[in-house]
Amino acid sequence: MKLGLPRECQAGEQRVALIPANVARLRKKQLEVQVETGAGLAAGFTDEDYLKAGASIAASREQLLRDADIITVVNCKGTQFDELSAALKPGQLLIGMMDPLMQPQNARRLADTGATGIALELMPRITRAQSMDVLSSMATISGYKAVVLAAYRAPRLFPMMMTAAGTLKPSRAFIMGVGVAGLQACATAKRLGAVVEAYDIRPAAREQILSVGAKPVELDIEAENTETKGGYAAEQSDDFLKRQQQAMTKVLAQQDIVITTAAIPGRKAPILITQAMVEGMKTGSIIIDLAAETGGNCELTRLDEEVVHKGVTILGPANLPASAANHASQMYGTNVENLLNLLLDQQGQLTLDFEDEIVRDTVVAHDHQLVNARLRELLH
Ligand code: NAD
Repeated sequence: MKLGLPRECQAGEQRVALIPANVARLRKKQLEVQVETGAGLAAGFTDEDYLKAGASIAASREQLLRDADIITVVNCKGTQFDELSAALKPGQLLIGMMDPLMQPQNARRLADTGATGIALELMPRITRAQSMDVLSSMATISGYKAVVLAAYRAPRLFPMMMTAAGTLKPSRAFIMGVGVAGLQACATAKRLGAVVEAYDIRPAAREQILSVGAKPVELDIEAENTETKGGYAAEQSDDFLKRQQQAMTKVLAQQDIVITTAAIPGRKAPILITQAMVEGMKTGSIIIDLAAETGGNCELTRLDEEVVHKGVTILGPANLPASAANHASQMYGTNVENLLNLLLDQQGQLTLDFEDEIVRDTVVAHDHQLVNARLRELLH
């Protein structure tokens, strides 16, 4: 069985889907690995590193895509999806992040090629699948990087400092939405010495906020149905969001740093911060909006642009994990390796067991069919 690792072609993408350490381990499964020249370079892995791990370098991208039985990529959207799907043929398997809930029509396009597609974002939230969960891996990096970005851009330091030139008060950081990214943001801001508060609609988040030394903010409003059966955040009503915004205005006015991470899979991000709320914030404060790619949690966010409104800076960075490409690729590669270990038998042959929840949930297209029930419903 041949596995192909192409170079990522999306603008700004620095990650690679497998690092040399993953290749070395997969080789033991009788997999022959071919790498496109330069595939790992932006993440700090040279062709030489892949060769040492037992891979070969493909003569060309076309040859790699033509000969591979399995193709693994990070970013399988936009122009890279167009190019890969045009090259695919029946029987090949494509594994990557495909934004399936927002772009379900791409799964249908994959089905038309006759190839099999695995959208990693659909990994079920079960204990057995945790080691294959790229959304959690990448959210960990985003949460950390959001705080580092805020610290770099802020006009104040995070920790309290007692100096000969006087005492500097610590910064106050507020994290809105405490899933994987938010929890990592809490922990990172705390480690840097800020006074950290956090809020989430899920009651279970309270314990997690306390566990990293941050303080949960309690609002006098309660969300209903905060989690779906699959363990994802449930969408809240407009009325709830309005009451949440009112209650949050006072909290925001006290902060130096605000990091928002609230997301609802397959939906536009909820607006947690209105323009009026920004206008109530301190001059010099900073909002890092991690939901910018799905519309933003702040009304004023512009994807990948810097907005300054009445002295408040709002940043909505795209693809923060790519800015820590080495570690992001290590985590992503390990997630993909673990998935391949599930899909391949000892002889390196691919077996898709649709009785297995992991296979059933993540395979979007197979044998000319759109096989994923969730996407079929979305496209109906
Ligand atoms: P996410 O990226 O889907 O959303 C981020 C957070 O935003 C969530 O915690 C959500 O409750 C919150 N949110 C949504 N609307 C909000 C609003 N109006 N106001 C404030 N907060 C709002 O979340 P995530 O990172 O996927 O994590 C969600 C939960 O799932 C966490 O408890 C996480 O630990 C858990 N999880 C479990 C597994 C697993 O068991 N395999 C894997 C990943 C995550």
